[in-house]
Amino acid sequence: MSLSSAQWSSVQVALKGQVGEEDFNSWLSSLRIASEQTDLERVALSVPTRFIQDWVDEHYGDIIQKSISETLQRDIAVTYVVKPVMEAEVVAPQEKVVEVKGELASTSEDRNKQSVSAAGSSDTDLEVLANSGRLDPRFTFDTFVTGKSNHFAYAAAQRIAESDVTVYNPFFLHGGVGLGKTHLMHAIGSKIKERNPNRHVVYISAEQFLNYFIKALKGRSTLAFKEAFRAADVLMIDDIQFIAGKGTTQEEFFHTFNALVGMGKQVILTADRPPHELDGIEDRLRSRLGAGLTCEIHAPDVETRQAILEKKAEETGLKIPSNVTLFLADGIDSSIRELEGALNRLAAYAQLSDVEITLDFAQEQLKDLLRVQKKQATIEEIQHKVADYFDVRLADLLGTRRLREIARPRQVAMYLSKRLTSKSYPDIGRAFGGRDHTTVMHAVRTIENLLSREPDLAEKVELVEKVLTTHR
Ligand code: ADP
Ligand code: MG
Repeated sequence: MSLSSAQWSSVQVALKGQVGEEDFNSWLSSLRIASEQTDLERVALSVPTRFIQDWVDEHYGDIIQKSISETLQRDIAVTYVVKPVMEAEVVAPQEKVVEVKGELASTSEDRNKQSVSAAGSSDTDLEVLANSGRLDPRFTFDTFVTGKSNHFAYAAAQRIAESDVTVYNPFFLHGGVGLGKTHLMHAIGSKIKERNPNRHVVYISAEQFLNYFIKALKGRSTLAFKEAFRAADVLMIDDIQFIAGKGTTQEEFFHTFNALVGMGKQVILTADRPPHELDGIEDRLRSRLGAGLTCEIHAPDVETRQAILEKKAEETGLKIPSNVTLFLADGIDSSIRELEGALNRLAAYAQLSDVEITLDFAQEQLKDLLRVQKKQATIEEIQHKVADYFDVRLADLLGTRRLREIARPRQVAMYLSKRLTSKSYPDIGRAFGGRDHTTVMHAVRTIENLLSREPDLAEKVELVEKVLTTHR
């Protein structure tokens, strides 16, 4: 005795109750009782793809097995067989065949809305896709700040956007989180649209690609899915590490990719790592991904980070002094997204409390982000930071040259060493190339006097002190 359809229905109800409507619809609704039932201890279920099989087995295998066992009041093993929907379609009853034909017919008529919406249950998604190119208008070349870290990627992106022939295919952009990959990708898309509004630019995240594809499989609209993508003049898929190793989806992506590249259409991809480091991707695909131009976006240096902050502030009309942007740029080096977050927060707080943004205010408001803690600076750190911020070489700072441009920062470093560490005057003297302790005392007094008279110097010293006592 195998599972009757009434029993299967009650299993389905039970499963829906356990996993929730949404997950059930995403993953379990396509399960069927397979036609081949071999023995009494076993129930075979069919799934449309290998990928769904793996997913279901891994995530829901246990509860499905329990639920069926309870219904049949025996201990039952569950097996899965893959029955591709398209294949099933061809042998299905008459009206289904017509549906398949309709799909084929409409797709040959190019990609108008009608053809896509004739495709079946996931039509709205595909419609969106067909008219896609929902590009963020803020992410343009103009708003992208360049520096050493991203100059090459920027130049390549611009070249692609402004060229009428396909110069690099695919263009593969990779780099860490929040370094501007998506921004550049949107910039390319917008520029292409601007130059030629008729070009069909499809932008999609790999995660959406995966979701659409699974929906298409279940809604029996894979042909429309394929066509929707293959109709693109420019296909941009963001974060493709997400589909690496996802069997069927990866396979579909590969075919789409080959088809487009074969037709000379531009393909642009981003990932958090270079092609050769993508796990779970077949070699043939990996080598083709790297066959065009591969570019890395590196983490920006402190000057570029500051420039980005100033650009964002300018865009939003925010008044923020440069010592504060420098303070932020120096303290947050993880990602530009975080940097932006900090800026937005400051802007919001300043507006709410109707105050101006100052260094103190920034330090206070961003405590958690900057992990403010009165940390003990070392003389060495002080020397490095002072050299950095006062733009002198460390060797000069520690050397004996008496030029004022060097002597002044040296005195600042001594002053801060006295202020921020527990070292004695003689200790500090030794750390500065074996100077006498009276020299250090003199330096400290000089700077103390200057601070009240030279606001520029005072501001700089305050900034370095904040940086030294705040940042990790
Ligand atoms: P990724 O896709 O690499 O994770 P995003 O492109 O989403 O990063 O960038 C994160 C945020 O940082 C976005 O708001 C983006 O505008 C901004 N950003 C990144 N790099 C730059 C840059 N060079 N100039 C201006 N803004 C940038
Ligand atoms: Mg991104």
